[in-house]
Amino acid sequence: MNAPDVAAGSASATEAIDWARVRADFPLLTRQVHGKPLIYLDSANTGQKPESVIAAVDDFYRRHNANVSRAVHALGAEATDAFEGARTKLARFLNVRSDELVLCSGTTFALNLVAYSWALPRLQPGDAIVLTRMEHHANIVPWQLVAQRTGATIKVAELNDRGELDLDALYTLLTPEVKLLGVTHVSNVLGTVNPVREICREARRRGIASVIDGSQAAPHRALDIASLGCDFYAITGHKMAGPTGTGALWARREHLAAMPPFLGGGEMIKEVRFDGTVYNDAPHKFEAGTPNIAGFVGLGAAVDYLSDLGMAHIEAREQALLAHATEELSKLDGLRIFGSARDKAAVISFLVAGAHAHDLATLLDLEGVAIRSGHHCAHPLMQHFGVAATCRASFAFYNTHDEVEAFVAALTKVRKLLA
Ligand code: PLP
Repeated sequence: MNAPDVAAGSASATEAIDWARVRADFPLLTRQVHGKPLIYLDSANTGQKPESVIAAVDDFYRRHNANVSRAVHALGAEATDAFEGARTKLARFLNVRSDELVLCSGTTFALNLVAYSWALPRLQPGDAIVLTRMEHHANIVPWQLVAQRTGATIKVAELNDRGELDLDALYTLLTPEVKLLGVTHVSNVLGTVNPVREICREARRRGIASVIDGSQAAPHRALDIASLGCDFYAITGHKMAGPTGTGALWARREHLAAMPPFLGGGEMIKEVRFDGTVYNDAPHKFEAGTPNIAGFVGLGAAVDYLSDLGMAHIEAREQALLAHATEELSKLDGLRIFGSARDKAAVISFLVAGAHAHDLATLLDLEGVAIRSGHHCAHPLMQHFGVAATCRASFAFYNTHDEVEAFVAALTKVRKLLA
């Protein structure tokens, strides 16, 4: 199969996207690595940035740089408007209210905020937290810290042979002592897309709060968080074409109102007195200190970029790349792909018989192909499959079908070196 790179997105048969032009928006993709054209297949790790995002960050520092919510001078107002404008754009992109969106450094921070500010004061001995086998460490370790400090226990929902959640088994775990359910929307290792709307409905019926790790969903699918029925939803900006150190936690207003601040300092207060400090309203109550202002300006530009392209087109493009890569890889003897979910994002974890994942990734790098190897911050998932590491090729809309072919050719070449 060699699908064209100028194609009509299946989302809208009439609207053709020139994917070569889209790719040209990403300056880094013109690089050479080890004398070979770069083939970047590590977007699940971090995404590349279009020119408009780089320009927005550059322009902020060149023309508008000042701190937010403090100074009355013109630059202070411009910086505050730019920062709050980014919040508004992101809220629209996620279909949530902007006063329910806490801006923070990324998913790791967002999940820790829920753990420390919502769960820690509430959970007690006898309570339980349900997590799934496919969680990233960022959606495991904060709950372990909470469990250690509160006496709560953690139960784990397991997977079926395709690397999907066993939903019946999951719902059986949702017993009365369970207070919180943590689920990733999309697995960063298997690409499995979990039916979070249904899962959150089941949790809610039982009075269980749900926290969704949306790190790998927000870059690839149109999100309508308001309709998911979850209590908390975390995203990270650097995987969705935005700068590193940006992200957000969406939480229901009643939770934000009830939660105590996580960090104290400037910006998160209305009045500080030694006989009692008055906190700011949410979401600012959870945004202590000077934020990554330029980063969020860049994230606002990233959201504009993704919206202009259209998430349905992005999804269709990435699904085509996934299908192509899966078909080509499946032709290779001794290659094992981990996970075959019916609903799957463009992530392929694999191993080649007789070759160590790191050796393959190192040799592929010499061919200009950047993939990730390792445990992908998902030790419990590796334990499930009985492996220490996998290779992971992850695709974004800016990749091409030619790159898919070149990657498979490079893999075919380097595995011979390891035989
Ligand atoms: N959750 C998932 C599923 C991820 O893939 C990642 C990043 O790799 C994270 C959480 C953590 O995101 P960050 O490091 O940006 O906080």
